[in-house]
Amino acid sequence: MSEPRTVFAVAAHPDDIEFNMAGTLALLTEAGFQPHTMNLSRSSLDSNELSEAEITRIRLQEAQRSAEVIGAVHHPPIADDLMIFYEDRLLRKMTAIIRQIQPSIVLLPSLNDYMEDHTNTARLAITACFSRAMRHYRSDPPQEPTDQDVYLYHAQPHLNRDGMRTLVMPDMFVNITGQMDTKLRMLGCHESQRQWLDETQGLDDYLESMRQSGAEVARLSGQSGWEYAEGFRQHSHVGFSTRDGNLLAEVLGDRVCRPSTPRA
Ligand SMILES: [Zn+2]
Repeated sequence: MSEPRTVFAVAAHPDDIEFNMAGTLALLTEAGFQPHTMNLSRSSLDSNELSEAEITRIRLQEAQRSAEVIGAVHHPPIADDLMIFYEDRLLRKMTAIIRQIQPSIVLLPSLNDYMEDHTNTARLAITACFSRAMRHYRSDPPQEPTDQDVYLYHAQPHLNRDGMRTLVMPDMFVNITGQMDTKLRMLGCHESQRQWLDETQGLDDYLESMRQSGAEVARLSGQSGWEYAEGFRQHSHVGFSTRDGNLLAEVLGDRVCRPSTPRA
């Protein structure tokens, strides 16, 4: 393969990657991809006790420590909590990052999720990839356009449900049973969230919640012997790659499967 083998996991908040993408990110890293991670939000609202400056600093450190577990390059945030909008300023910043790192695979949030920060992050990342080759589109900071093929995959929404409580069925499953320890180590770096998620969302043990979510996806896959899985839905290739392929499945081989029963 002549193009750079880079995978970019982009999410709204610190710990979103760890919940729904980190196992697959670890597998791609083992397969020779250079991993990059980014959370668009500084998580400035993630504490009712600490100052915004203090919680922002802590959350960035936690995300950086998590990235270090798999040797990922971590990109700093560009927005505040509840301020991730599909708008000009953020789109130009996202495009600069896509042009700089030239990913072949992008893991991004679901377009069916319970939270607007998540869906807006997905929309920004999609268009940033789409505009990567457009010479007249100016990124911030300015970066030369790039024309590599890029394959986009939407991760599962938080706890596999959309905002209307409907189960989201992936169109491909990744066996991450062997990566669960790495995933737990990465999520465990977000220590400040233990108390916060308990207070605000009743997630008394966020590590256990993530584990159960991965076990549910494994059950949905219908594969015997798969203890934990992550699920994805692939974005259209139009505007992103010259061929209608599936690079993630090609690279990960028999660790990937399709749903065993036809989708409604
Ligand atoms: Zn989030």
